[in-house]
Amino acid sequence: MSRLDGKTALITGAARGIGRAFAEAYVREGARVAIGDIDIDRARAAATAIGAAAIAVEMDVTRQDSIDAAVAETADAFGQIDILINNAAIFSAAPTVEITREDYARVFDINVSGALFTLQAVARHMIDRGIRGRIINMASQAGRRGEPLVAVYCASKAAIISLTQSTGLDLIRHGINVNAIAPGVVDGEHWDGVDAFFARYENKAPGQKKREVAAGVPYGRMGRPSDLTGMAVFLASDEAEYIVAQCYNVDGGQWMS
Ligand code: NAD
Repeated sequence: MSRLDGKTALITGAARGIGRAFAEAYVREGARVAIGDIDIDRARAAATAIGAAAIAVEMDVTRQDSIDAAVAETADAFGQIDILINNAAIFSAAPTVEITREDYARVFDINVSGALFTLQAVARHMIDRGIRGRIINMASQAGRRGEPLVAVYCASKAAIISLTQSTGLDLIRHGINVNAIAPGVVDGEHWDGVDAFFARYENKAPGQKKREVAAGVPYGRMGRPSDLTGMAVFLASDEAEYIVAQCYNVDGGQWMS
């Protein structure tokens, strides 16, 4: 018996990186998974690679019609949605004096509004059908403390931790558990972009920021998406029934360093 047997999940931003690792892990644990992503070609490729238990769903979390359509498509395909992982997000960095309203609005639109209104749409679906569901929001160590060039991204992830606390306390009366995971630095394509930002703002050679960051992780290396899947499975499993409105660090010790 696998830990998510018979469960269905919608995972946003799962065409690559951490979200894709979550989709693979959930299928290994017996769930069926909808890979919701704005990059539909890549979402389809991921679903094909994962197999029959995965489908690709085109989804832009900044558009309410797209969120509603993705929730309806997932529910039609699987019968219902038991689990949501709010994983889609973008990174951004700039010196404080160079932050633009456009960049701030874009980051908050995807990382915060996108997560809140996807959570809302899935929570409505769960409440309407009496589903005692699970919602997992992807936070970050960036939401727990400041970083000199990363004010907007850090603020967006702090908002995710706060939204997890308040929506978690509200939705548990419907039997819906909302929790969050706060990774530290996790290797992947996302980091190519991060590295490029720091090359520009700190005059670093390509790959230099990544090496410096990895050297500072108490565990001794950057995280891998597979380091996070155990927590994502646990929070969706029956064992986590009594866990409400929490944010867990899975970070190789970065929060303590
Ligand atoms: P990633 O950039 O590799 O993947 C993000 C996915 O989101 C992509 O597939 C992209 O197409 C999708 N996406 C972007 N905009 C979208 C939109 N408007 N609608 C739907 N999908 C959209 O990211 P990752 O590194 O795998 O990170 C996943 C999550 O973990 C994010 O929430 C990120 O903030 C968080 N996180 C990452 C790290 C890290 O170091 N990689 C650290 C802490 C937290």
